[in-house]
Amino acid sequence: MIVIGNWKMYLSVDESLALAKELAEAKVSDAVEVVVCPSSIVAGSVQEILKSTHIVLGGQNISKEEKGAYTGDISAQQLADIGGTHVLVGHSERREYAGETDKDTASKVAKALGAGLVPVLCVGETKAEKDAGQADQIVMSQLIGGLAETAPSEVNKIIIAYEPRWAIGTGDTCSSDDAEGVAAAIAEKMKELGFADGSFTVIYGGSVTPDNAREILSKEHIGGVLPGGASTKADQFLGIIEAAQQASSTS
Ligand code: PEP
Repeated sequence: MIVIGNWKMYLSVDESLALAKELAEAKVSDAVEVVVCPSSIVAGSVQEILKSTHIVLGGQNISKEEKGAYTGDISAQQLADIGGTHVLVGHSERREYAGETDKDTASKVAKALGAGLVPVLCVGETKAEKDAGQADQIVMSQLIGGLAETAPSEVNKIIIAYEPRWAIGTGDTCSSDDAEGVAAAIAEKMKELGFADGSFTVIYGGSVTPDNAREILSKEHIGGVLPGGASTKADQFLGIIEAAQQASSTS
């Protein structure tokens, strides 16, 4: 079971450090994996605060290139160098505002794996695509596209985050049964593509809160959650972690 907090660009540097300290003081157990993804400008300092805890550092994005003249970018290796272990790839906000394509996500997944990071490949349909009955088709094409440069044999661990775009930051959560249906379809496709059981985990993201996390995490094919807004408030993030601990102890 894994809980990945995406702090996006919500917090100032001081607020990020204060949140990291609150989480460090909470002494989260290792019963579930916990990852926080702060802005890159504060990532090294957050890692310093969390390094003696069970909470690990993730990135919100990496370059599709390995190294070189790419002003403003951060490489997979640089994230690994400061102690990062996970990285979000193809988050819907990157796809929408930075024009990230499936080809880009495929390069990023490969670069992440090459640097020893666990890629968290985000896939999900828009409201218009959902209303047009295209959700499955979109999710599967983002999944296949994002894995295009990755051979299953090279993968120890990859996470696929099903994040319906219409549920992100809206308070409009996907029903747990619908999320489970898509998660099961993703798991089936991963096996069809040659990924071994245990080499991948499917998680859900989209307006996750302490109140709905337990129900979502009770589903067979959902192995974790990716909260955004709720992960920027210590009490809510800790509530989600507690829900994950309870779900893992009853599964
Ligand atoms: C996200 O950032 O991936 C996300 C799901 O955000 P929120 O929880 O705020 O909907």
